[in-house]
Amino acid sequence: MVVIAVIMLVMIRLLSDAAVEYDIKQELRKSVDNNAQFVDVEQDEVIISDRFLYQDEDIHFLVIQRRGEIVAGEYPEDIVSELKNLPIQINSSRNVVCHGEKYCVRDVRVGRSRDKGVYVRGIVKKKDAYSRYRTIEQVSYFCMIGVFLIIFICEMLLSKKISKELKHMCETAESIGTNLDMSRRMEYDGRFREIAVLAQANNRMLDRMEETFRLQEQFTSDVAHELRTPVAVMLAQCQYAEGKLDSQEEFREFLDVVNRQSGKIHAIIHQLLRFSRLDQDREQLHLEQIDLRDIVEVVCEEQQEKAGDAVVITCQLQKAVTMGDIHLITIVVQNLISNAVKFSYAKGKVEVSTGEDTSGVYVAVTDHGIGIEKEELPYIFRRFYKCDKSRNREGVGLGLSLSMKIAEKHGGRIQVESEIGQGSRFTLFLQKI
Ligand code: ADP
Repeated sequence: MVVIAVIMLVMIRLLSDAAVEYDIKQELRKSVDNNAQFVDVEQDEVIISDRFLYQDEDIHFLVIQRRGEIVAGEYPEDIVSELKNLPIQINSSRNVVCHGEKYCVRDVRVGRSRDKGVYVRGIVKKKDAYSRYRTIEQVSYFCMIGVFLIIFICEMLLSKKISKELKHMCETAESIGTNLDMSRRMEYDGRFREIAVLAQANNRMLDRMEETFRLQEQFTSDVAHELRTPVAVMLAQCQYAEGKLDSQEEFREFLDVVNRQSGKIHAIIHQLLRFSRLDQDREQLHLEQIDLRDIVEVVCEEQQEKAGDAVVITCQLQKAVTMGDIHLITIVVQNLISNAVKFSYAKGKVEVSTGEDTSGVYVAVTDHGIGIEKEELPYIFRRFYKCDKSRNREGVGLGLSLSMKIAEKHGGRIQVESEIGQGSRFTLFLQKI
């Protein structure tokens, strides 16, 4: 601010000096040219009209001859003698410095050329002329300093007000951080648009954080819930078994239940670990050139074997070459096909196809099973989400979310179309090479 003020003052000084200089020369030119009309030369005789001015404000006028001899008028007393011998230089207003004093001089020739050289000389001491302008300049300096002072005071008041508002917002943020009260929001109804925008941005961030916290809590409770059931079954089984397992058959049944439930726990923990490794980028993708046909062929065979004659899986496989981690892509294909089998009606049909299109390569899995409600479609890729829990025979709701994560890690996606009671079609899209 101070620097700007100093620069402005220097600029005003320079500009006003240039303007005053121009003004002085203009006035001198006008006055001398005008005054020269009143002098004439006739048959070597110099005729000076009564209207000829010898002084006009700070300008002194003289009628002189070629070698400087004065015909009429007088130099002011304080003019130094060198200036009196200044050579003639017609029609130019020039600056002359004599003994540290600055003058502006203009000579104009009068009469016709064959007459002897007679000239009107105008001379002005710049210091005198400047003094007329100095008052205006000083007033403008004062005005400018005044304006700067007003701006400075306004700026001080404004910044004080803004920092007060910001301090209030900081206190709110601090209290949210300390009390972890995610329901609080920044409130601002003041006049500063920028602060309002900042408050809105902060509130949006808090909305997202609140949602993340909520999902985190939901996730913890889901994990606990999913693990509780098999553990409870195992505990009950153990309590029952205590001293009551008489026969070999009962013992085998007991082992079977414990085995299934611990397998379920193992699957949940295994999938959660995979999630956390993918989330933290700790799971390295071992990318290699793969044809999705090969993966699908193997998985279909496996799943058909598991399903027996409850479902018929048919394949229509075309070349679909991509770069991918064969192990992870296999997990996705397994999830999609096993879901299709799981949610098919008895003796249902599952169709699996692979191929390429303009956007990339794909694996499409179509079933004619129970389908998914439209309202539930946006949620099925969330962890632990199961549509209408009573319908879901097995599973914990981690398969699709893990599959989507793997697809995204490969730069791909999973698309779903479904009609309740009609069936679903899940398509995994990956990049073509
Ligand atoms: P789950 O292990 O329970 O199958 P997923 O994450 O694979 O978990 O699927 C989430 C939910 O999406 C399932 O519980 C099911 O309700 C629904 N779903 C997935 N695939 C299908 C499908 N092919 N047909 C009908 N519903 C499906």
